[in-house]
Amino acid sequence: MPEDALISQLTERAIELVAKWEGSFHEYRAHPATAFDEKGFEASWAEFSRRMAGNYPFFHPSFAGQMLKPPHPVAVAGYLAALLVNPNNHALDGGPVTSQMEKEVVAALGEMLHLPAILGHLTSSGTIANLEALFVARQLAPGKQVVFGSNAHYTHKRMCQLLGIEAVEVGLDERGRIDLEAVARHCEGGKVGTVVLTAGSTGRGLVDPIDQALQLKERYGVRLHVDAAYGGFFSLLAWEDASAGLVPAPAYRAIAGCDSVVVDPHKHGLQPYGCGAVLFSDPRVGILYRHDSPYTYFTSTDLHLGEISLECSRAGAAAAALWLTFRVLPLEAGQGLGPILAACRRAALSFSERLAATDGFLLLEEPELDIVTYLPSAPELSRRQLAEWSQAILREGMVAREPLYLSLLQLGEREADRLGSLPAGEGETRVLRSVLMKPEHELYIDELVARLASLREKTAPGKP
Ligand SMILES: *Cc1c(COP(=O)(O)O)cnc(C)c1O
Repeated sequence: MPEDALISQLTERAIELVAKWEGSFHEYRAHPATAFDEKGFEASWAEFSRRMAGNYPFFHPSFAGQMLKPPHPVAVAGYLAALLVNPNNHALDGGPVTSQMEKEVVAALGEMLHLPAILGHLTSSGTIANLEALFVARQLAPGKQVVFGSNAHYTHKRMCQLLGIEAVEVGLDERGRIDLEAVARHCEGGKVGTVVLTAGSTGRGLVDPIDQALQLKERYGVRLHVDAAYGGFFSLLAWEDASAGLVPAPAYRAIAGCDSVVVDPHKHGLQPYGCGAVLFSDPRVGILYRHDSPYTYFTSTDLHLGEISLECSRAGAAAAALWLTFRVLPLEAGQGLGPILAACRRAALSFSERLAATDGFLLLEEPELDIVTYLPSAPELSRRQLAEWSQAILREGMVAREPLYLSLLQLGEREADRLGSLPAGEGETRVLRSVLMKPEHELYIDELVARLASLREKTAPGKP
């Protein structure tokens, strides 16, 4: 793995940094209670190594399945250094350095999205970040509904249930995005408080027409929340003419006019789990989090991050890793993170063009970000048979001598009916899905296409 040497070098720097800092304090003795038996360690390590070998190769471009990849070596170094100190960003006293870093990275995310003044913080995940946004939505409009599309992440429904919010799920338009006409019809009734839009749907990687949704805010006074957990960082490409053609720029630019946004640095921000973020465009929502905690510290009159977050303890290391990453790989279109996202986007374009050009596969739709959905082409097969074939390709790919890791996307009957690319038929179905979220995918398209072709051959229905 080409990054191995870099990781050893950088993690060594991180360990040295902390050792030197620790050495500046008065000497003390380690307690024997923390000692361990070295032989026992060796045996445990051997078993640990065996178990670790069972992981799928998320780092490798042949892993073209789910949203998974290792963090960047720079993030690993930042995380490790802070992990050894282990600050807690609940309070300024628990993480004096990393809380400041958190404020800076959240401000940088706000700038990336072109939000006006912001209040926000990191969370342990996109789910918790969305929970926070829905919590604020409920506090501002108690008793009102939250509307989302059937393309929204499945956790929105669950979080509404948790918060006691009435959730309304609307269908999709013919392009697979939230049906804004249906949303408007619900808003007419006057019961809607918040509309959730998705920038980069988890399944198909599509971006809702946020630009058109802005009217809802004006017309009905509803809040707009954007779940950009997956697609948020693509916003880097939306503001410069040179790269704007790569993403649905008008939708991305419209995020600036919304009330809250969720972005997951542990997806496209090169970070380890868990690092999500929630941002509010009106800092006054901070008041809604007000609580009394007798346990926190009182050395500062600044707002503690713990006072604007539903979670208590949070890893300061997550903020440190993100801070160092943004320093080294800035949030810019032309350098740092931008070119990484552009490479993923080009990988998806070239992969989908290649699939569309073969006889063996059918592209479900043009990808909008870096998620490609496709299926073996066989017009004579039913939806159920196509789903089985896709599943067989996935299974065979994982055990092949030259493995290929894919994922499946479940399409409900109505969603499938709307896709002109799918053979007509009845019922739900399943198609193949590839998340090309590593820039290395751009250099691996020939190999992906070749492996797919051979898997198709091997699994074709009727073969023994
Ligand atoms: C991944 C994802 C989530 C959930 O985020 P976690 O970090 O996995 O909790 C929510 N919404 C969208 C659009 C996502 O892609």
